[in-house]
Amino acid sequence: MGMLCRSVDLMQEGRRRGYAVPAYDTFNYESTKMVFDAAEKAGTPVIVMYYNDGYIPIDTFAVMVKNLGARSSVPFSVHLDHSPDFETCMKAIRCGFTSVMLDASKLPFDENVRETRRVVEAAHAMGVDVEGELGIVGREEKVDRARFTQPEEARRFAEESGVDSLAVAIGNSHGVYIEEPRLETGLLARIAAEAGLPLVLHGTSMIPPDQLKEAVRRGITKTNIATEYLMYYRDQIAQALARDKPPKVVTALLDAAYEPVTDFIAEKMRLLNPDGLSIL
Ligand SMILES: [Zn+2]
Repeated sequence: MGMLCRSVDLMQEGRRRGYAVPAYDTFNYESTKMVFDAAEKAGTPVIVMYYNDGYIPIDTFAVMVKNLGARSSVPFSVHLDHSPDFETCMKAIRCGFTSVMLDASKLPFDENVRETRRVVEAAHAMGVDVEGELGIVGREEKVDRARFTQPEEARRFAEESGVDSLAVAIGNSHGVYIEEPRLETGLLARIAAEAGLPLVLHGTSMIPPDQLKEAVRRGITKTNIATEYLMYYRDQIAQALARDKPPKVVTALLDAAYEPVTDFIAEKMRLLNPDGLSIL
């Protein structure tokens, strides 16, 4: 039976053994089920994330993920992605999330530390771990090196905020990349050495496999993924609709997409285990 875990425990074991834990934003029953089934196929723990856009109520999401996770055979955690504020983090914790991310990365350094610290103190009192972000990860725009995470600041941020994991900006970007992704893995290694924390890569969709494997070797222990599999999912449904005899009912459309999308997700997950370890 799948065991509900703390995200930081999953990440620390990954760091120690040399793999990263896949983290997927899911939004309904089917996407969540596919992510768990893909994790079983790839033989990896998985972090299932709530993207705070209100598509599905957060309490419904928590119940669904925990129920599907318990039916799976993989260790898993339930994580709040990109919380804008303290209150949303507390709401997620009340719903049973095992980790939360506060994204205060757009604030000046000291305010980012202060806001993150506030969430850390409350969350730790309830056994929940916290991801912070330092540097700015853009969305579908040109990568700006001036906004990359700086190693020395990462060390101070880790010490002063008390976070358990840190999202970094090293050439990654949310959504669809508008230029060829080029991660600065040298910078990443320096951040990892200074911060001494599990590091998180947002915008992992469309990173070339070689760069992704190198990023894992240099300190990335959680990879946030959404765009890529959601576009593939859309394409599979479009193909099912375009067939000579498209299915009559919507569930048959979802069923047609199920296996190819699950395989697509599992293939990506395997890249995060660059040495092909037997993890579970
Ligand atoms: Zn993100």
